[in-house]
Amino acid sequence: MLIGDISRRNADFFGDREALVEPGGRVRTWLEVEERTNRMARALLDLGLGKGDRLAMFSVNCVEYVEFFFACAKSGVVGSPMNVRLAPPENVKYANYAEPRAVLVHASLVEEARAWIAETPSIEMVIGFGGEHDLDLDLEAIAAASSGDVSSVVLTPDDPYMLCPTSGTTGVSKGALMTQGNAISGIFGWLADYPVNEGDTNLQCIPQYLNAGGPAHIHPVFTKGGRSVILPGFDPLGFLQSVDRYRVTHTTAVPTMISMVLDHQERPAYDLSSLRVIVLGGSPVAAPLVVRVRSEIGDCLYPTLGMAETYSCGLVLRPQNQHPDGSLEEIRRLGSLGKPHTHLQVRIVGADGKDVPHDNTTHGEIWFKGGSVSPEYFRMPEETAAARVEGWLRTGDVAVIDDDGYVTVVDRLKDIIISGGYNVASGEVESVLCEHPAVAEAAVIGTPHDTWGEAVHAVIVRRPAQDVTEQELIEFAGARLAGYKRPRSVIFVSALPRNPTGKVLKRELRATYRDQGSLSDA
Ligand code: ATP
Ligand code: MG
Repeated sequence: MLIGDISRRNADFFGDREALVEPGGRVRTWLEVEERTNRMARALLDLGLGKGDRLAMFSVNCVEYVEFFFACAKSGVVGSPMNVRLAPPENVKYANYAEPRAVLVHASLVEEARAWIAETPSIEMVIGFGGEHDLDLDLEAIAAASSGDVSSVVLTPDDPYMLCPTSGTTGVSKGALMTQGNAISGIFGWLADYPVNEGDTNLQCIPQYLNAGGPAHIHPVFTKGGRSVILPGFDPLGFLQSVDRYRVTHTTAVPTMISMVLDHQERPAYDLSSLRVIVLGGSPVAAPLVVRVRSEIGDCLYPTLGMAETYSCGLVLRPQNQHPDGSLEEIRRLGSLGKPHTHLQVRIVGADGKDVPHDNTTHGEIWFKGGSVSPEYFRMPEETAAARVEGWLRTGDVAVIDDDGYVTVVDRLKDIIISGGYNVASGEVESVLCEHPAVAEAAVIGTPHDTWGEAVHAVIVRRPAQDVTEQELIEFAGARLAGYKRPRSVIFVSALPRNPTGKVLKRELRATYRDQGSLSDA
């Protein structure tokens, strides 16, 4: 099976049923998706693009974005989504790494696109779509003129069809090359791990330029013949209205989005009872949020670890495994991210290269092996080699594993603080600080310290109208954590630096506080 088979089969089975919907806007049936994506695929080939050529995509969320990936999958061209939230110099850097020969630009972003396209010499063709624009090529025009005949294209599961950018949280964004086989494996992993029916509706509210927001989480519902409602971007009210109006069954979000939805003042006016699957990941899923979703929406939360390198798969804690004794009263595995997706195997590997004991205490790095693991970072042989050991992907995430095989992520390897020879998981200190009623958000980093190497430093956003002092927070943490984990200093800020997926940019915080010199003991 290849990606293109999904639309072909669904056009056959479900022809006139809705496949893609934009609220208050356009609708595409399965027949239309199949026909349009064949035409787009043929048009790309007619323009001279071929197997393996990169096609950059610079767009807001829209129905075409989904179609582009099908067109790539049918033509062998490699879709290369660009992060529209980046500054032009950042896009210049990524584009000159991905080296696309052509770019698809949404009409609303033409000016922003010009700023980086002009400095990307590999780009030979700029194709506009999604409204009025003054670009030479127009997607609808070239697709309309194409025969739509892709029968001569020969593809295999090993052919790449997408370059998934990592979020660039720990450094420069890398492009994980995704083959059709990787994607199919990921889709079937999800289909085995959560329930999907033919009549289901997925709500797409995270950016489509991210792997998690793009095909990875549309495809499982899609593969069964369900539809996807595409929001141009996330806003909590739009989310509430769409779930209610379209009886949404599945969605994928990052934790802050769901908190915003639950906190929204108009939430009681909307019916969320159709939701059966909320995939939540990208950043740590705090235990109180799991409890809240269960009591306020239902038993539908799938806390997940995913990453670009695995087509957004990794670990998933299914609701039925959250309360293994059958009781809904207690979530025994709160905080765990569960077990690997069906198509993946996991190892938690210590510094000595051996699996750590299943004691839920000993730290090790998460390694994955299996069908959705990307074969390589595009044109980065050193990074690829560093992240691979005998077919296993080293994720750079640190976790513990219990005697039932449930994995709890504690931190990123790069965020572990080494203070006085002790390893301190920044995530653990953050969870404790977030238990304080005045703390809205916490980021814990290591700052240079003359005696200990690194000192634990907390950066805190207070809740509105709540007050707490540095000393009070240090004492609060000290009462709940070993002495070496206790923050030595606390600073209050109005917001944490985050990337577009909501991940805290600790490398920026480290740079800020490193530049201020060694912090004194509190
Ligand atoms: P880069 O690799 O460029 O530094 P990134 O790792 O943030 O950026 P992504 O592939 O988008 O790029 O994100 C995957 C990472 O996000 C994981 O490796 C993990 O560190 C983090 N992550 C994802 N889901 C969770 C989760 N549920 N809990 C904790 N961390 C998570
Ligand atoms: Mg990463």
